[in-house]
Amino acid sequence: MKVFYTDHFVLPLPEGHRFPMVKYSMLRDKVAASGICGPEEMRVPRAVSDAEILRAHEVGYLGRVARGTITQKMRRIGFPWSERMVERSRRASGGTLGACLAALEDGFAANLAGGTQHAFAHRGEGYCVFNDSAIAARAVRAAGLVGRVVVVDTDVHQGNGTAAILHGDPSIFTFSIHGAGNFPFHKEESDLDVALPDGADDGEFLEALENGLERALEDSRADLAIYLAGADPFEDDRLGRLSASKQGLTERDRLVLESCRERGIPVAVTMAGGYARSVEDTVDIHFRSIETAATLLNPAKRSQNGRPGWRP
Ligand SMILES: [Zn+2]
Repeated sequence: MKVFYTDHFVLPLPEGHRFPMVKYSMLRDKVAASGICGPEEMRVPRAVSDAEILRAHEVGYLGRVARGTITQKMRRIGFPWSERMVERSRRASGGTLGACLAALEDGFAANLAGGTQHAFAHRGEGYCVFNDSAIAARAVRAAGLVGRVVVVDTDVHQGNGTAAILHGDPSIFTFSIHGAGNFPFHKEESDLDVALPDGADDGEFLEALENGLERALEDSRADLAIYLAGADPFEDDRLGRLSASKQGLTERDRLVLESCRERGIPVAVTMAGGYARSVEDTVDIHFRSIETAATLLNPAKRSQNGRPGWRP
């Protein structure tokens, strides 16, 4: 399975900053060591162009990000501005676009970053600069590769930026399942929103997901899915407020990926948030999402028995 990584485009953060930037390099190391992707399948994405960004963002915002003149609003994003931050943000969106293109060929592919669902057309917030899902979905549509796309966002924080950017776009269906009592406190309107109460456990989470997923996949009639496999519904997440276990989150991955595969919908998997008390837990949850996709894509790999067709 092809995976795209950008962790070596380092976004410089002051010491003690609470964003767990290290998770990305730890995740790449873990994927590389596991052997689920060959070295030639681990790829560096290109940076998305201005034209690609402008399908999802306002030109004034792109200019302010590129020039570093958004000092006031950077506080909302939560990262200090630097040229490397801009480059990294472009590359992370490129990773989601790369994963979409690879998924259209192979069935599943992944970006070991991305899932920056709080970026709006005219501003960023919550560690999100550019909205990779909106940029990538519109790029594959513009290239004529797909008619319809579904965004399945299971990060614990609502996909408010994605919902706002894609509101009124009938070709891209937005589904967000998230914590009702969590950031962002003002929710935007996705095509389908499922809000869970604080403390929701595996049973509640998975039942709500299964129902929502069925409706989203039915209504969207999508040719491609972008799946945000956020690690933050985890019970020991500092920002999560839900009580999903690691096993429950792996079950979530399997449910999303198998439901799409049954319908012949390719999936680009992206990572989104994860703020567990122990960063190893976050990395472990992200890794299991990649591993689940790779195993479902190629179940015969372990038996060295040739590759069964992905499509039903
Ligand atoms: Zn989140």
